[in-house]
Amino acid sequence: MTAIPVTIGRRPLLSPAAGGAAVPAARAGMDAFASGHAPAGDAPTGIGAPLIDTHGRVHRDLRISLTDRCSLRCTYCMPEQGNEWLARTSILTLDEIERIARLAAADGITTFRLTGGEPLLRTDIVEVVRRLAAITGPAGAPVEIAMTTNGIRLPELLPGLIEAGLNRLNISIDTLRRDRFHELTRRDRLDDVLEGIAAAAASALRPLKLNAVAMRDVNDDELVDLVEFAIAHDAQMRFIEQMPLDAGHTWDRSRMVTQDEILAALAERWTLAPVPGRGGAPAARWTLDGGPHSVGVIASVTAPFCGDCDRLRLTADGQLRNCLFSTTEYDVLPILRDGRGDEAVDAGIDGMLRSCVRGKLPGHAINDPSFLQPARGMNAIGG
Ligand code: SAM
Ligand code: SF4
Repeated sequence: MTAIPVTIGRRPLLSPAAGGAAVPAARAGMDAFASGHAPAGDAPTGIGAPLIDTHGRVHRDLRISLTDRCSLRCTYCMPEQGNEWLARTSILTLDEIERIARLAAADGITTFRLTGGEPLLRTDIVEVVRRLAAITGPAGAPVEIAMTTNGIRLPELLPGLIEAGLNRLNISIDTLRRDRFHELTRRDRLDDVLEGIAAAAASALRPLKLNAVAMRDVNDDELVDLVEFAIAHDAQMRFIEQMPLDAGHTWDRSRMVTQDEILAALAERWTLAPVPGRGGAPAARWTLDGGPHSVGVIASVTAPFCGDCDRLRLTADGQLRNCLFSTTEYDVLPILRDGRGDEAVDAGIDGMLRSCVRGKLPGHAINDPSFLQPARGMNAIGG
């Protein structure tokens, strides 16, 4: 099946070669899988071959957005009103998500991260986790199921999620102050988030990570408090540089809080030492006073980590994306719903996964003057 990318916005269209010679997954491909990088060149194709891009990066992480809806309206992510929601009929069903995930796992994806929008708003969330957790990769290797959530609804849902196979949680909390939280998220729900974090801390899921977007004159005086809050909950705090992905397109580079500023603020309280061996992880980490506690910073803007990126994204409406900032999407929805036989549908999805990987640029272009923000807000991409 020919994979046709859809370009959103005005960034030049990539031309991922469609199809490609069908050769079996080569030993070289499996070796590359182990190392994270493979020689650039002809990647192996066909279901079961690793997903290697033209820069040699082996893909292991699929972020699955389950919905674009959310219980909050964070200013850096969604508009207060007037958001254009994805059509309900285009939202992937549980069976469709499972099908794509199964093929991705066959191709070497080892982690599924569930996100959104707010993944816990999906009414079948426990069943989504159960179905994905039952998938195995090559040679029966288990997959890991992680989730990024705002924490609201965790107290009621967490026992079922863990029983269904959830392995890891990241919970977002940008401020510990109620008024600020209300202003920033446009909802007065700090207590619900705190209860969600308490439920996660009381569970056995570790490592538990807390995420905060650092924002000037909003929460940049709370960075130390947030780290102490995380430590008190046996969690690791991670600060994220604000990225140009807000639905309102209001991001302003001159106002963003940088990694250097975050580290400088924390260094007033702790001695920081870099933790080596980051691999493909988005967060660089530093120990606090020699450990055991540490803090992470995701510096997509000032210290991009694209060279080791092993991530792909699937939006709630069935678009594969090879980068948060890409304006090109690879549409699997028509393949899933065109009524052909199982074999043809599987081959089509696998071909689209490979086209998406082949179309991946060496890095994002946030720092390029020609950068165009994707048309989708973060809530519709999946963070
Ligand atoms: N609703 C869930 C949550 O907030 O954790 C999951 C989806 S949210 C889009 C995923 C992550 O993206 C959150 O940690 C959020 O803070 C982050 N995020 C959203 N918009 C962002 C932006 N413009 N820049 C940096 N991070 C952003
Ligand atoms: Fe919702 Fe998460 Fe976006 Fe906040 S960051 S509006 S919680 S999707």
